[in-house]
Amino acid sequence: MSYRIAVRALCEFSAKAGDLDLRFTPSPSAQEGIAGHRVVSERRGERYEREIALAGHYVHLEVRGRADGYDPDANRLEEIKTHRGDLARQPANQRALHWAQAQVYGHLLCLARGLDQLTVTLVYFDIASQRETPLSQQCSACELREVFETHCQRFLAWAQQELAHRRRRDAALVALNFPFADFRAGQRELAEAVYKATHTRRWLLLQAPTGIGKTLGTLFPMLKAMPGEPLDRVFFLTARNTGQQLALEALEQLGARPLAESAADTQASAPAPAEPASGDAAAALPLRVLTLTAREKACEHLDKACHGEACPLAAGFYDRLPAARSAAAERGWLDRAGLRAVALEHQVCPYYLGQEMSRWADVVVADVNYYFDLHAQLYALTLQQQWQVGILVDEAHNLVERGRGMYTATLDHAAFRRLVPQLPAPLKRPLARVAAAWQDLAEQLDDAHGERDYRVLEHLPGKLIAALQQAVSRIVEYQSEQPIALDGELQRFSFEAQHLCRVAETFASHSLCDLTRQPARGRQRRAGATLTLRNVMPAPFLAARFAAAHGGTLFSATLSPQGYFRDLLGVPDTAPWLALGSPFAAGQLEVSIATRLSTRYAHRAASLDPLVARIAARFHQRRGNYLAFFSSFAYLEQVAERLAERHPEVVQWRQAARMDDAARASFLARFESGGAGVGFAVLGGIFGEGIDLPGERLIGAFVATLGLPQVNPVNEQMRERLQALLGNGYDYAYFYPGMQKVVQAAGRVIRTASDRGVIELLDDRFAQPRARALLPTWWPEPRLD
Ligand code: SF4
Repeated sequence: MSYRIAVRALCEFSAKAGDLDLRFTPSPSAQEGIAGHRVVSERRGERYEREIALAGHYVHLEVRGRADGYDPDANRLEEIKTHRGDLARQPANQRALHWAQAQVYGHLLCLARGLDQLTVTLVYFDIASQRETPLSQQCSACELREVFETHCQRFLAWAQQELAHRRRRDAALVALNFPFADFRAGQRELAEAVYKATHTRRWLLLQAPTGIGKTLGTLFPMLKAMPGEPLDRVFFLTARNTGQQLALEALEQLGARPLAESAADTQASAPAPAEPASGDAAAALPLRVLTLTAREKACEHLDKACHGEACPLAAGFYDRLPAARSAAAERGWLDRAGLRAVALEHQVCPYYLGQEMSRWADVVVADVNYYFDLHAQLYALTLQQQWQVGILVDEAHNLVERGRGMYTATLDHAAFRRLVPQLPAPLKRPLARVAAAWQDLAEQLDDAHGERDYRVLEHLPGKLIAALQQAVSRIVEYQSEQPIALDGELQRFSFEAQHLCRVAETFASHSLCDLTRQPARGRQRRAGATLTLRNVMPAPFLAARFAAAHGGTLFSATLSPQGYFRDLLGVPDTAPWLALGSPFAAGQLEVSIATRLSTRYAHRAASLDPLVARIAARFHQRRGNYLAFFSSFAYLEQVAERLAERHPEVVQWRQAARMDDAARASFLARFESGGAGVGFAVLGGIFGEGIDLPGERLIGAFVATLGLPQVNPVNEQMRERLQALLGNGYDYAYFYPGMQKVVQAAGRVIRTASDRGVIELLDDRFAQPRARALLPTWWPEPRLD
């Protein structure tokens, strides 16, 4: 069996040495890189060959790649690299990596064409000045072969253990049994649907209710499909951290965590929910499982910059990486704590070790942005390495909002204006150009129609974006000269400006470009304006990411109506949509709709007494724990205060606008079995989904809002754009997102087959047929009163 590897991946493995150093990055965007390559190759003569596919073998390695260009007249192979900033500041190890790539291509070209010598040239193309800097070496075919063989030898031992790991892994997955004696009701159907979708290389939209065991029910078939397809990697992507924990627990139930490690932890944690069917689940499954964690959480030196002069875990990173990588691969179970332990033992950065291990893990558990966003690492690796990946997206209803966020960019004018007086001298001029262009733009809010607080621009503000691009180049150059991290405000502005420039490259009708007035503050005489490139429909971006996967499943308890998700997410037309029945019975739940109560903004004051009366009556009818959901903190406070006044005997606790992890935990801890009280929360907030309060911990929910987003100029523009693009503006901008939040929140009540509870929908609009059509089908007929 041979091991196939791309030239780039081979060299990244074997030719990197010394410090981790990101000062010469960020490199140009992908689009700038492609444009730069095109400019260089168009400058060449007619006989110039471009994108030459090459391959070669060494023992059982198969090395493939595409050389950028070859000039047969000069017998010169060119490897083109685009860059920003002063080339003299490029770290030596980055240059060495580029030479390694060029030389390996050189060997493959000599082999293919029977050449006995070659000029190998690195062409550095400066994006800003459009100037080329060529660096050349005269090489004999023998020298190039030696370079190639050296790199292959460095990789060979790793390739051998990778092949052996893959054989072990696939054999274990073929033999893998479901870890419990029986599937839960509906879980087998779920597992079969996931397996079939993966096997037929499709995406599946799966609406599966609570209680079915979705995490295990999707992971198990995906892993079973791995050897046969074959899949290189599985990505389990979530919109919330709680989903990641559930995925790790399911993988542990399947035996992926080494026994010694899990035994130490499980002594302190709750027992598994059901007995394993046999000894199979206890047998270790040789699966490398990696959790990817954001830099802010994984970094050990948040006050430092990511290079060897500043951070001890970046100094000599690549020299210590081989040992750390081997230790991490051997450990296999790389949750946040596991990865950190390996990293610190080998004195390398845990965050960047995690990035490295995403190349070698079998299952990666991560936030959805690692695959779907503009700079997504897992998506880039999938394309570069030509992986076959199977993807599971948990709580996929969140992908609409999360997807919009990934392709939206905002620049805060007030923060920028605070930054300007403190700028270091070399940045004053480029940022003054930004300031002037931005102020001109802010003044567009005042026009013949008077002053406005919000305005959608028909076109991108070209002058400001050009100034931002130049400023970003200058900041990157300046940053590369600094031994310590940039000032926090400047760093933040730099990241935001880079993101905005990249979003601007893809701007089209799927997005709005808008300005929002910011009042003048302090000594400022003129108002400012926040600039936002606001994605409305993420489908065009996400579609490419769906297409790059072998197959996958988007699953959630709320994926209705399917057209809404298909249109906004860009799921392939071939993706089937499946709704599974609930394992719960209508008899477990009582649902009522208050048909004489309105929570519309104009009726809020009048709604307080009836709401309080209903909450108190229900509480006295059956004492226990309830959740009450409202559309805003202001409304929540009004009702809670009125309840405290009229019914001080009803114990209550309230969600606050900002809650840290401890405050969240203490809110949830109030829901004790045998307790009695009302927790007040905001619909669509942190307690509206993703929390599990089974049995007596929660016996009912009041939902005093349809969850409709606020009618404001931004949402109205979204509605208009969705109407123009998809013909369903109001439902897509307001009604469906609102009702999803309602169903998610109400779904907190019944979590197991033995739960009993009530849901009170407190607004007359819930009685309308179009609202009732979006309620779960297993619910009993609501009582109208
Ligand atoms: S520890 Fe923090 S500062 Fe150091 S390299 Fe890692 S992420 Fe960068």
